[in-house]
Amino acid sequence: MTRVLPPQANFNERPLVVFWEVTRACRLACRHCRASAMADPARDELSPVEARSVVAQVAQFGRPYPILVLTGGDCLIRRDIFEIIEEAAALGIPVALAPSVTPKLVPDLLPRIVASGVRSVALSLDGASADTHDAVRGRAGHFAETTAAIGAMVAAGLSVKVITTVMAANVEQLADVAALVARTGAVAWEVLFLVQVGRGTAVGAITPEEHEAACHALFEAAQHDLAVRTAEAPFFRRVALQRAGGGPAPASGLYQRLSRRMAELLGPATRAVCPPTAGTRDGKGIIFVASNGTIYPAGFLPLPLGTVRSAVLRDVYRDDPLLRAIRAARFSGRCGRCDFADLCGGSRSRAFAATGDPLASDPACVHQP
Ligand code: SF4
Repeated sequence: MTRVLPPQANFNERPLVVFWEVTRACRLACRHCRASAMADPARDELSPVEARSVVAQVAQFGRPYPILVLTGGDCLIRRDIFEIIEEAAALGIPVALAPSVTPKLVPDLLPRIVASGVRSVALSLDGASADTHDAVRGRAGHFAETTAAIGAMVAAGLSVKVITTVMAANVEQLADVAALVARTGAVAWEVLFLVQVGRGTAVGAITPEEHEAACHALFEAAQHDLAVRTAEAPFFRRVALQRAGGGPAPASGLYQRLSRRMAELLGPATRAVCPPTAGTRDGKGIIFVASNGTIYPAGFLPLPLGTVRSAVLRDVYRDDPLLRAIRAARFSGRCGRCDFADLCGGSRSRAFAATGDPLASDPACVHQP
């Protein structure tokens, strides 16, 4: 349910994951796109030489190397993407790819991806039906292309993670998406709770009570043979701890519907969920490099900390005062008073989007410390 962290994980020293938006170019125009992706590469995109320097900067964190997640835009549009992958893989850096599903992905590029040294792939599925997914992704037929791509990647031996962005348009379908993901053979399901940045500002947000209902339903999904993770909802760890300790589920109609449907589709629980331990949050175990080299605490937190063109990623991650404050859980408001501050700490991106203060409370959490 939560990531299995290496025993020596010290998030003051190195992140678990470096997200690198290698390009903002993408042929899709999804309703919730964080990157506000565009058809062509931006003029200030890192050059191939600068890209090699980013790989070297990831290696500067030392072993165990962070996982390098190549994202976008559509990372496969970048002309030197396979050189980047091969260079990182040759250094022993674990590489994950988060491509957009386009007609070129399967079968044209799949063999090259498998041969390049990529360990895992993340694909987005934003609904349990073509109607919902295609409307979010802005393209008819995309649901079928996505489920086919997931199947082809699993069959090719890649470790596949499915990412679902939760919003008003699909929150009622979460149980159906869980069942669909479980059937695909994907190793993990990551549920990303939308933060209102990029094109996501125009997308229907869900209420704090709906976030809570969804997290409780996800706790139940995690009791099956499916690794369930969340992004931008670290209070899922608070929910998991409370429920694992016998705490009550919410009475809301949304939770009751999702829970009932989950039981119908997934059957009885097959395993217990272990109480979570401290995990990552924006700026703690996570760092983001934009296509032009600007460093941010996370992809949804547009507070620039420097650029890989003139600064060293490792030094920014270790020494930036904001990142130090985030890692030390020095929050204000409810998150500052909360017993779960270290375990959870709230979404720093959502706190910033809502208040302009990255250390404020996460407004999507209903918990009253
Ligand atoms: S109040 Fe903040 S730290 Fe506490 S559970 Fe909610 S989001 Fe997490």
